[in-house]
Amino acid sequence: MRSPVQQYLESIVDQCNSGDGEVAAYIPELAAADPDQFALALATVDGHVYTVGNAETAYSIQSISKPFTYALALSDQGFEAVGRKVDVEPSGEAFNEISLASDTGRPKNPMINAGAITASSLVSGDSGIHRFTRVREWFGRFAGRALELDESVYTSEITTAHRNRAIAHMLREFDILEGDPEETLDQYIRQCAISVTTQDLSLMAATLANGGIQPTSGERVLEATYVERVLSVMATCGMYDSAGDWISSVGMPAKSGVSGGIIAVLPGQAGFAVFSPRLDPHGNSARGVQLCERMSGDMDMHMMHVGRMSNTAVRARYPLSELALRRARPEADQAVLDAHAEKTMIYELHGDLLFAGAEHVVRAVVNDAPDLAIIDVRKVDDVADVARVTLLGLRTMLREAGGEAAVVDPEGVMPDPDAGTQKASPYFDDLDSAVRWCEDELLRQHGREPAEERTLVDEHPLLRDLTPQARKVIDHHIEEVHYQAEDIVLEAGGKFAGVHLITSGTAIASVEGPGSSRVRLVTINPGTSFGELALGTEGVQETRVVAGSDLTVLRLSAEAIETITAEHPDVGLEMWQAMTRDAYRVADRALRSGITFG
Ligand code: GLN
Repeated sequence: MRSPVQQYLESIVDQCNSGDGEVAAYIPELAAADPDQFALALATVDGHVYTVGNAETAYSIQSISKPFTYALALSDQGFEAVGRKVDVEPSGEAFNEISLASDTGRPKNPMINAGAITASSLVSGDSGIHRFTRVREWFGRFAGRALELDESVYTSEITTAHRNRAIAHMLREFDILEGDPEETLDQYIRQCAISVTTQDLSLMAATLANGGIQPTSGERVLEATYVERVLSVMATCGMYDSAGDWISSVGMPAKSGVSGGIIAVLPGQAGFAVFSPRLDPHGNSARGVQLCERMSGDMDMHMMHVGRMSNTAVRARYPLSELALRRARPEADQAVLDAHAEKTMIYELHGDLLFAGAEHVVRAVVNDAPDLAIIDVRKVDDVADVARVTLLGLRTMLREAGGEAAVVDPEGVMPDPDAGTQKASPYFDDLDSAVRWCEDELLRQHGREPAEERTLVDEHPLLRDLTPQARKVIDHHIEEVHYQAEDIVLEAGGKFAGVHLITSGTAIASVEGPGSSRVRLVTINPGTSFGELALGTEGVQETRVVAGSDLTVLRLSAEAIETITAEHPDVGLEMWQAMTRDAYRVADRALRSGITFG
């Protein structure tokens, strides 16, 4: 099968075939390049690379080296030391302008030659060659393979580098370069002559898109905070004197080189590389610019394009009173819960929680002013630091009002910084358990101790309405069974094994997921039962039920149910009526929940 992404890339390559521009001639070796060469590569952040044209043809990296050397200087020296020598202001000047900022004496940014030569000098190392070797290895870690120097391009450029030599000496004159300017110039020209393919460049870009982790090796090459800096400088200065045009029309951090390459980075999604040696008057690949504009437009890649509004973080918001869960509470307790269930609110969140999403949650909670809140983050993918801090502020706010926020977070997307201390929030693996905790808390707030587990069992719909005579018969057949944490109580695929009422501990129902994983469905708490659903699936137990802790159940086995039905038909009738009522009650709640929140 041919991927539609591949087909799309091939089709735009055919359509964007600008033959405008000239091959760079000031480096003799580059002037000899075949102007009609072409390659495009798109590398995703999980390391898949799509290519069109000859993406394995090698050429010298040239100025595309600049962001990566700057990254190494930052890694070696930190923001402050690098910032003392090179600024981050767009210059609006050509790449090889002989200029320094008049006030600071620093090169305006690390993407023009003056700044790039300075950045090369900031790489740690004992000599120019040592620093260059570190640069070459560093680039290789972004590309995911070892890279080599193209000797002929290096020789060709070093012997004609009059302008860059002038820049290096000027930098030395202003003490921006501190060592021998010739040594730094040599290092810089070597760095520009490192040989790469379009595929390499796409992976180097994808490493930046992936927050500094190389997609195929999984190695963290660059700290995330430096990735942000490098991308910012690429966005504002990467395309020299056409940076404004580029960021308006393409909208991605990018870098071009005079051999005809361009990389562009779509943070969080992909890295692109295009190669076509004919350059426009700014020194950027003409066909490369054309293609990037086209891709960005077609694929909504402009970084200012807002896909999903991130303030839609709250997918559902409702009071406890509307929640469809099985409950088994003594009636007096249930009355208290019913009276106050409006003041416990459940907030189901989803997506990535950034500032706007967290603010939305906060506004909802402030507006509802609940006594207790359940924050359910099971469908949340990622929580930004700002959201974490904001939601902690929410917790403080609720606590000051005498309330509390319970968190449902089985995957640990929002770990509690106070975990293990007195200040920790109540965390739960499923909504069921969080609701149970809130109910107990509500009862306590209103002066009632949550009922003993035994009492809960008596309140179970199966037992609660039985006549004393029927209850006696059933009690006679019920047996108490103990399990240890992780014991399998019911295996999926087994036969109906009777009704299990939990008197203490918890049980976890799960089904088989993809591979050998297990998908946890629900935690079953004291006072509720399991096993009877098998009656609805032709007597086959569909879920695996495992003890979540030390577990005690009252079991009415399948045989016992048969015996009761045979020996005491009237009790059997009562029992089956109770079971039917319970089943309809569960179905009714499930149905209502579908209508209310589906
Ligand atoms: N080596 C080239 C130079 O310094 C790199 C310039 C570029 O690619 N724009 O002139």
